[in-house]
Amino acid sequence: MEKPFYFDNCATTACDPRVLDKMWPFFKEHYGNAASHDHSYGWQANAAIDEARYELATLIGAKEREIVFTSGATEAINLAIKGICDSSDRKLKHIITTAVEHKAVLDTCRYVETKGVHVTYLPVDHMGRLVIDRLREAVQENTLLVCIQLANNETGVVHNLDEVGEWLRKFNIPLFCDATQAVGKIAVDVEQSHIDLMAFSAHKMYGPKGIGALYVNQKVRKRLQKQVHGGSQEMGLRSGTLNTPGIVGFGEAARLCRLQWREDYDRLVGYRNELEIELLESFPGLSINGAEAERLPHVINFAIPGVKAEALLLAVSNKLALGRGSACSSAERLASHVLLAMGAEEERAYHSIRLSMGRFTKQEEVGAVVQILKQQVESL
Ligand code: PLP
Repeated sequence: MEKPFYFDNCATTACDPRVLDKMWPFFKEHYGNAASHDHSYGWQANAAIDEARYELATLIGAKEREIVFTSGATEAINLAIKGICDSSDRKLKHIITTAVEHKAVLDTCRYVETKGVHVTYLPVDHMGRLVIDRLREAVQENTLLVCIQLANNETGVVHNLDEVGEWLRKFNIPLFCDATQAVGKIAVDVEQSHIDLMAFSAHKMYGPKGIGALYVNQKVRKRLQKQVHGGSQEMGLRSGTLNTPGIVGFGEAARLCRLQWREDYDRLVGYRNELEIELLESFPGLSINGAEAERLPHVINFAIPGVKAEALLLAVSNKLALGRGSACSSAERLASHVLLAMGAEEERAYHSIRLSMGRFTKQEEVGAVVQILKQQVESL
């Protein structure tokens, strides 16, 4: 049986074969522990980790010492939010986030609420964009942190944080950014956007699963309390033996993204435009969520009127791998909280489909999508 065409790159990307080649020796030959300071196995692992750290820092405009390796973006998000809340000895603590964050942020916020932290969930406009005035109104004297995603994992809507970050610096409030869907796909520069903490993950940028990072600006380092105790790796912020093969793969994935993201971007925007025109022509009343906002190049989130997303995705599943919004909420079979926050009716929030392309998406695959969908919609 032929494999279905893969259009779920927001859930995870294939690992680039060049990344795998680079990782392989670190399973087989260079298996030393980077914390072993007394022999060449350890030195080799340590040198490879330094190189990877350099690549990650270069990709996002940071310094090497500002990169903390974690097991993925979820852990990095937990470290950022809980770490900032825990280190503050204020009685009244307040943080601000948006209603359209990934569950990793929203659940962590719900958790800190149980510890007495007050959380403001900012609304977005009908295109899923941040309303900066609402943020300005929400900031209080006891605000410890503002958490805003760089790009939305369901709609691909991108938030421009340059202005927000600059404004928050005046109040000395750190900006934490979940950039899991953005790094490696669009230009990300922590200095330019005045980001203080930023989470991202290798498996969304053609690297391996199980490795991610938190960027920690030197200025907020002291305001972050570690969440994992032990051997004090990662500048004391995240203990545990480092995942050398994963980190090496992450570093190579970052290097490749630095060299290739622009080329991928241009090609994927072309595919997206082609697909959107075809979709709109083929299905009367089809709506593209977030269409007027700045978006990631590879994501289309759409709803076909009268068509149940779950039934359609199942019907095409031997030919197309598509998603229903975020992977986490589709497991729970809920309407998308992102689309609801954008003001979509329940029906549309429940039946929207996310199509996400990637570096390995081919023109002929893009050309086949609408035909496959049409056949199934007719038979449904
Ligand atoms: N944040 C966003 C925006 C995501 O899309 C995801 C994964 O889907 C995560 C966080 C969690 O990332 P990880 O799988 O690396 O824990």
